[in-house]
Amino acid sequence: MTQYRSTRGDATASLTASQAILQGLAPDSGLYVPVEFPKLDKPLSELTALNYQDLALEILKIFLSDYSTEELQNCIQQAYGSQFDTTDITPLTSAGNLNYLELFHGPTAAFKDIALQLLPHLMTTAMQKNNYPGKVVILTATSGDTGKAAMAGFADVADTQIIVFYPKDGVSAIQRQQMITQVGDNVTVVGIDGNFDDAQTNVKQILNNPEIQAALTDKKRRFSSANSINIGRLVPQIVYYFKAYGQLVQQHKIALNDEVVFSVPTGNFGDILAGWYAKRLGLPIKRLICASNENNVLTDFFHTGCYDRQRDFHVTTSPSMDILVSSNLERLLFAVLGEDPKALTEFMTTFETTGKAQLDDASFNRLSDFVAYCANTDETLTEIRKVQTQDLYTIDPHTAVAAFGADAYLAETKETAPIIVLSTANPYKFPETVLHALTNHQPLEQGFEALQAVANVIDLKIPRNINRLKRAEVLHTKTISVTDMPQTVLDAIK
Ligand SMILES: *Cc1c(COP(=O)(O)O)cnc(C)c1O
Repeated sequence: MTQYRSTRGDATASLTASQAILQGLAPDSGLYVPVEFPKLDKPLSELTALNYQDLALEILKIFLSDYSTEELQNCIQQAYGSQFDTTDITPLTSAGNLNYLELFHGPTAAFKDIALQLLPHLMTTAMQKNNYPGKVVILTATSGDTGKAAMAGFADVADTQIIVFYPKDGVSAIQRQQMITQVGDNVTVVGIDGNFDDAQTNVKQILNNPEIQAALTDKKRRFSSANSINIGRLVPQIVYYFKAYGQLVQQHKIALNDEVVFSVPTGNFGDILAGWYAKRLGLPIKRLICASNENNVLTDFFHTGCYDRQRDFHVTTSPSMDILVSSNLERLLFAVLGEDPKALTEFMTTFETTGKAQLDDASFNRLSDFVAYCANTDETLTEIRKVQTQDLYTIDPHTAVAAFGADAYLAETKETAPIIVLSTANPYKFPETVLHALTNHQPLEQGFEALQAVANVIDLKIPRNINRLKRAEVLHTKTISVTDMPQTVLDAIK
């Protein structure tokens, strides 16, 4: 049985997987990690032959071991079906000397769908297993992608409710259209007069607001978290690392047990941490390339062992990676600090109070599975253009940061193992930037005009779910001032 403990607390105070999923963040502000890292039941030779759903079951059952096989199968079936536009779920494509694992075939055309299509079902199953009556309420502030993917996952899932606040002038035209057309009887989406930080700060206050807590208890509801610190979001992401490997084996590009390298566009460190978990399960991963944009806190961390957020925040062309503090790094730090909650707490407290913290040499040397590179805006645009013209493949700006990292790593190491770039968004999600890259100048077109202009140049169909946005019915027109956020939540849970 895999039990979970907080990175900042005592291992004996452990929870089952379903309890950890309901809880989200541990009460001591630590993150849940397995007390003992699980082992696979099947050899790699068998895993590489499985389809996505069966592979997901093999991974999920060892991490979420208090769920029955039947419960997991049920969740998987609901998550990875016709809402994906390919039965492979995460197809692998080759272009030039890189392989791209396309994680964007779900309902919102970005990789967060992979975890967020599954999480709501894991959560409602967890409620039943723990005899929790009533409903869970997901409350999120979003700068774009996460909120939409969470809504798409939770929409009309029984016994759940989701409330999303987004900065009304702080998301792209297409992201805004995605928000305001979201269907679902259990969905509340409201734009606020303020930026993402305002939204996030107020959401945190609402989560601790006693009046709202009382109202929730009264209605038999409780808050839970859909953000990437939830172990229920991390575990589903391990699956596609195995799937990518299996596809390379099946395409005869590698022999079983050959090593591969993954390049991962990184923000909150969830995606790449799942890759490291895959390696710990025995997947032959030689290196994980941590790719960042100008917000390159992690690049410096992997080069020096110094985790330092004291620097300017950059708004970049890869907004989902615009982050200075990567929450999931705490899980890696915990491991390299010898799973010592005291050492971890000290490190994080130093980081939180002074803005930086330095790893000791022994712990730093345990980071050798990782290398790190960063790309600035020019390098990102050039990468998109290069891959398009030389390799006839179009990538989005986040993927371009990872492709740049892969190229830099290749140039530096002359690596011979195949490199798999995680492709985290469909290029049509960021048409202004892709158009800029392809035409070599700042475009006049915005939103759907930019989308059409990109479609005129590249040989890729606009995904169904983005195409139909233009004519979708607008359902959520409400915008409020930040001070009205608590009342909006109270009204929504009535
Ligand atoms: C969230 C996101 C990322 C970063 O993933 P993390 O798990 O936060 O590191 C990269 N690309 C896209 C498109 C994303 O939405």
